[in-house]
Order: sequence, then structure tokens, then C-alpha cells
Amino acid sequence: MDTELSYGYDRRRVWAEVDLTALDFNIDSITKCLPASTRLTAVVKADAYGHGAREIAKHLESVNAVYGYAVATADEAFALCDAGAKKPVMLLGYTFPESFERIVLEKIRPAVFREDTLTQYEAVVSSLHKSGDLVENETVRVHIAVDCGMRRIGVQPDETGLQFVKKALATKGVTVEGIFTHFSRADEKDLSCAEEELSRFTRFVEQVRALDGGEELMVHASNSAAIVTLSKAHLDMVRAGIVLYGLYPSDEVDRDKLPLKPVLSLKSSVVYVKELVAGCAVSYGGTFVTDQKMRVATVCAGYADGVARTLSGKGEVLVRGKRAPILGRVCMDQFMIDVTDIPDVTMGDTVTIIGRDGAEEISMDEIALKSGRFHYEFPCLIPPRVPRVVK
Ligand SMILES: *Cc1c(COP(=O)(O)O)cnc(C)c1O
Repeated sequence: MDTELSYGYDRRRVWAEVDLTALDFNIDSITKCLPASTRLTAVVKADAYGHGAREIAKHLESVNAVYGYAVATADEAFALCDAGAKKPVMLLGYTFPESFERIVLEKIRPAVFREDTLTQYEAVVSSLHKSGDLVENETVRVHIAVDCGMRRIGVQPDETGLQFVKKALATKGVTVEGIFTHFSRADEKDLSCAEEELSRFTRFVEQVRALDGGEELMVHASNSAAIVTLSKAHLDMVRAGIVLYGLYPSDEVDRDKLPLKPVLSLKSSVVYVKELVAGCAVSYGGTFVTDQKMRVATVCAGYADGVARTLSGKGEVLVRGKRAPILGRVCMDQFMIDVTDIPDVTMGDTVTIIGRDGAEEISMDEIALKSGRFHYEFPCLIPPRVPRVVK
């Protein structure tokens, strides 16, 4: 997964630091929440939430607490295999038939919930057997998605769903390895909706287990939110996404239950410092005008580097361990900050856009609040031109 667009000349312009000791700390924390019989799958979709799936998976290969990986798209799954991932890879979303042959050959576990998918896999596996590309008796291992309230993908937990499970169990070339659901509201203080979704799921799973071949399925439901809030949903496996990376799914979950450390920081450099007199407009549109003599520094990162433009005039960054407000509009590749009260700031100083500098910290929660965006978006939307530096 070559996400870096880099000849190596721009390493001080803006970079994302990925702290693997924080990742280990979070995995340890999550593991302590789980019974020993519950497996932990690392959700590494969207390039490991922007942290770099290749590097994250390379690290997790040797972490015993991690059973496998989950991704959203076929390309993400193949990229993991190409990067040398040996642990089971699960595909959480719908995938198009063009990818089925490679999914089978790479032993990736797709989610299934459409009848046409079952017939298509049956045909693909049969033709791979015929061509000799797939060893006889080798099948595709699938996980059946059940919709218990998210209304996104998955069969209904009723008679129609049960018919689908029966069909899947009977499909030649297909082995049903697991069955799962996904919570729509496990990140709320009031868990009554999540509990209702869980009981719909467990009632359905009971019926499935009563079927011939349905006894041994791997049953999973929990995302990060449910890992923290709903221990009865841990079942055979959990799928941890955002908590791996040290962020809480929402501010309604009890943070004391799961201590986490943020894995990613976003940093840049001061490339210009100047004094402005009163009455100078700063940046596009002149939305900020100095009302006194000010020292203004230019930072060489912008919204095309993941610095939300909605932080214009609202956000702060850290320089020399102190907070410096963003002045006026964030541009595509640069923005300006007020360093009047940090007089020793000079060109070349490191600017922390997300992360810690001394006693101060700019968290993703803070910039989410100030920018009006969802905190998951920040790491996910740091583009390929920003190099990831693994520590
Ligand atoms: C993205 C995703 C997860 C992980 O969600 P987090 O809130 O980041 O833990 C788990 N399961 C499914 C099906 C997903 O799509």
C-alpha cells in the first residue's frame, strides 16, 4: 500500500508520527477488558484509519493478542496480503464479483448477505478447482452479516435470514466460518438500543446454532464502543477500530474503563516569522485583521494535509510547548498563527497540529469540536502526501 507520495525532500514540511508503543499500550488495555476466550481482530480499514495499514499490520503480525485483521474493501485486503500479513483477513463490506477469485486464492474472509454472492462464489471456487489453482476441498470461508438495527448490510434476523444461513451452509465451495452484526448505537450513555440489537442478534444466533453445521460458528458483534460499554457483547471475537488508535468512540463512554494513548500526531514547521502592525488582514478573505502589533508565523501545512479548513480562526497549534491560535483562513498548503506571546519562536520550529508538546496537548476531540467534524475523520483524511513516520 504505497500511500506515500514522497521523494523524501518534504519530511519537515508536514508529517504524521505513528507511535507503536502507544498502539501496544492500547492493545494491552483492550485485552484486559476481554475474557481470555474472546479474540481481538484489528480493524485496519482506510489505511488503518490513516495510520498506514502496511506498517501497522507489519507490527501486529507479531502481537499475539491480535487474532486477525478486518478491512472494508477488496483492495485493502489484497494490499495487506501483499504486505505479508499472514493472520486471517476479514472483509467487512460488500465486495464486487471481480474480486472473488483473488479473495478465494488469498484466503480472505468476505462478509456475505446476498444470495447472488453465494452462487457467484460457488461458481468461482468450482472453476478454480477445475483449473487446479485451488486445492480440492479448499473453500472460501465467509462470515454472514446480520442486520440488527444498523440497516446497512446484513440479512434480517428472522425467517428470511435463517433461510439465507441454510442456503450458505448448503452452498458447495463455501464454508461458513462466522456470523456477525454491527451496532448502530453502542456509543451512547443509554444502552437500551444497543441491548435490543444484541438480543435480536443472540436470539437469531441460537436459531442458527440449532441448524446442521451452524453449531461451531465464530460469533462477533462488538466494535470499539461495545468493547467499552457492553461486555456481554464480547462473544467469540471483537472488532476493534478507533480504540486501537487511542481515540474513544464518543464522549459518552466511560473512559476510565479503558485507558488509551493516541497513536498519531501531526506535525509541521514554522517557515517564516514576521512582525505586523495594527490593521493588517491575514490570509484569504481578510477574515482576521490585527488590532495591535503582532508576531505572526507561517506554518507549511494546510487543508490538503488534513488540517481542516473549518479550523480557520478557531483552532490552535502548539509551538515550544505553548498554544498559538490559527489566524484567518487555513489555506491549501499553509496557514498563519499568532506567536506574539511566544517571542522565542523562530523559523524551523516544530509545530504540533495534533498531539502533545510538553504539558500541552491538542487532541482529535478538541479539533473535532472546534472544526465541527467527527474525530474519526482526522486521521482518516490525512492524505498520501503527508509522510507517516513510525516510531
Ligand atoms: C468500522 C467497523 C468496525 C470498527 O469500528 P470502530 O468504531 O472504529 O471500532 C467494526 N465493525 C464493522 C463492521 C465496521 O464497519
